[in-house]
Amino acid sequence: MKNVAVLGATGSIGGNTLDVIARHPQRFRASVLTAHRQVEALVALCAQHRPALAVIADPSLETELSRRLVAAGVRCEVASGHAALTAAAAGGLCDTVVAAIVGAAGLESTLAAARAGKHLLLANKESIVMAGPLLLEAVATGGGALIPVDSEHNAIFQCLPGGRPELRGSGVRRLILTASGGPFRGRTRAELADITPDQACKHPNWVMGRKISVDSATLMNKGLEVIEAHHLFGAPAEAIDVVVHPQSLVHSMVEYVDGSVLAQLGNPDMRTAIAHALAWPERVESGVASLDLAACAPLQFESPDLNTFRCLALAFQALRAGGDAPAVLNAANEIAVEAFLAGALPFLSIADVVEAVLAELPAQAVVDVETLCERDRTAREAARRILRNAC
Ligand code: NAD
Ligand code: MG
Repeated sequence: MKNVAVLGATGSIGGNTLDVIARHPQRFRASVLTAHRQVEALVALCAQHRPALAVIADPSLETELSRRLVAAGVRCEVASGHAALTAAAAGGLCDTVVAAIVGAAGLESTLAAARAGKHLLLANKESIVMAGPLLLEAVATGGGALIPVDSEHNAIFQCLPGGRPELRGSGVRRLILTASGGPFRGRTRAELADITPDQACKHPNWVMGRKISVDSATLMNKGLEVIEAHHLFGAPAEAIDVVVHPQSLVHSMVEYVDGSVLAQLGNPDMRTAIAHALAWPERVESGVASLDLAACAPLQFESPDLNTFRCLALAFQALRAGGDAPAVLNAANEIAVEAFLAGALPFLSIADVVEAVLAELPAQAVVDVETLCERDRTAREAARRILRNAC
């Protein structure tokens, strides 16, 4: 029996994870559930999954959470605040942690799970983008495992020999990340000027949280994933390619030196990657329908348009700059996306804000988590100032 902490249980990945867990009550138990502020949703999940501990990140909501759990007849421990979240990720109530908080807010708990030697199922790509080397070091010293849940990286993991997350010596020539192209594939810059948040969040193939949906529309999501792949698999920027594949059935590929290209396919449903990561190295049923290739044909592939979707080019730039540049890119992007979702920034200006912050804060070496978090704060302040000046 695996005891699973689902960090970000009320989100899209959290919900899909709980769906898979509920299919296998003999194998998995959701022992810890956490949320940011969604008390009602968290209580409903607790009533269904009966965890040992529920954590609400916003401390002002702890009393309300306790009261509502009692009213719902749910008996479990209750805690609140970021320290409680981190303690839960590292604590004895779980052996497996699904890191499914969105954004840099997930960094601390992800690192804590890694240091504690948990089986870490990583959806929170922002934490590895920000702190790749530190996270990998924490996994190594903690002695646990890191299994990618992001569908592209999970696909690559499945296409590598024996799921070995290390390219050196394995005959790999390059990693090919597929991108759906998002809702605005094929559009010109002029056609993107008046995009609204709701249009940007309407992804053609996946239902996801709003932040990652906007990232998918700008292709920043693919940019973050290129950096994620670099860290997870030790691949240099030159060995990572992106190809647009609108059907989202080929979740990514690995090319070997003999010309073989291995791909992982499946319907676009995150439960496949989640079930793979939860059961690894075994396989369990996920609830995902069988793939009907004939009904999906033809499969298309095309090059990304880096002039229209500049965020992808900026991510490659940050990866090549190295050091803390990816953390700066991520912080600026989080602020810009927040402003776009609030209706305070045009869609095309997200890339402008990221570019300006990267220019203002040249890459520095990553020393430790404290300096990295300080850099994250500085980049957020720079992005907010640029936003204020632009309005
Ligand atoms: P979401 O917005 O649906 O859910 C986010 C979860 O994090 C919620 O439970 C929320 O309560 C919690 N949260 C948000 N801010 C928090 C904070 N400050 N402190 C504590 N908890 C907080 O997001 P999602 O789509 O599920 O994505 C989660 C992560 O997984 C992201 O990093 C995303 O990039 C990654 N991911 C998502 C998908 C997908 O299909 N949704 C696919 C691949 C990777
Ligand atoms: Mg992905």
